[in-house]
Amino acid sequence: MFHVFCPVQADEPVFQREVAITMDDLNMNANDCPLFSLSQRNQAILRALKKHNDLRAAIFVRGKLVDSEFGKETLKVWNDAGHMIGNHSYSHFCYSGTTFEKFSLDILANETIVKAYSNYRPIFRFPYLKEGETREKRDKLRKFFKNHNYRHGYVTIDASDWAIDDRLRKHLKLFPNSNLDIYKKFYLDHITKRAAYYEELARKVFGRPIKHTLLIHHSLLNALFLDDLLSELEKKGWKLINAEDAFKDPVFSIEPDIIPAGESIVWAKAKESGKFESILRYPAEDEVYEQPEMDKLGL
Ligand SMILES: [Zn+2]
Repeated sequence: MFHVFCPVQADEPVFQREVAITMDDLNMNANDCPLFSLSQRNQAILRALKKHNDLRAAIFVRGKLVDSEFGKETLKVWNDAGHMIGNHSYSHFCYSGTTFEKFSLDILANETIVKAYSNYRPIFRFPYLKEGETREKRDKLRKFFKNHNYRHGYVTIDASDWAIDDRLRKHLKLFPNSNLDIYKKFYLDHITKRAAYYEELARKVFGRPIKHTLLIHHSLLNALFLDDLLSELEKKGWKLINAEDAFKDPVFSIEPDIIPAGESIVWAKAKESGKFESILRYPAEDEVYEQPEMDKLGL
């Protein structure tokens, strides 16, 4: 039998890029949900994951948004589909600007909701990825996590999908029947660019490829385009992996020493090293960086 070997291009990486989908908030807010009902929106997101080899994501739950019969039923659907459930606090306070006492109680309040599900894991993701503006507050919470057997639900690839979703919903209020291809293209470009940035930075910082966790939100944008996004990532050479596998990477046990604490774990370790100042902006991701381009395109 003949084998045809394709020579590897010089600029093509020889390692496998791997990424898991981690989704924040599980938004059950019916007030602002054009095009789909809440359950259609939720089903579309779950269908996209299922379609891509039954991909298992992690959903970081903000308790206040699911604290209803419907919310809890929806969370059960995620659980029963095999997705990992994590803690994202009950009220979604920003830790910078909230006391340790108030914030830690809020984590425990959320735990009473999420721990009822079999795929719940004691893993925490900070709202806004802000982990404290002083060493004292940061370290108090790190100790609290150790005492309660929590792991860090770090993001490695941060982005601003929420800002695109915001524009999309505003646009649909004015023009309910418009073609949304321009939003899809902008979204796919945005995520693949941010993924490439964090992937390259991670290899420089850690000296090896790591398993990535992409942060996106439970939104209309993802109900519409998650399937396309997953296909685009695969097309760009990313292997989609289950969130539970991704979080086994030792990178998720690291506790960087920077103040203010937080952002992507890749960004935080790069910041701590002091070697990448020219390519680190603060905050690492925000709407303001995407606004000029979105304005230009009329999004
Ligand atoms: Zn959030």
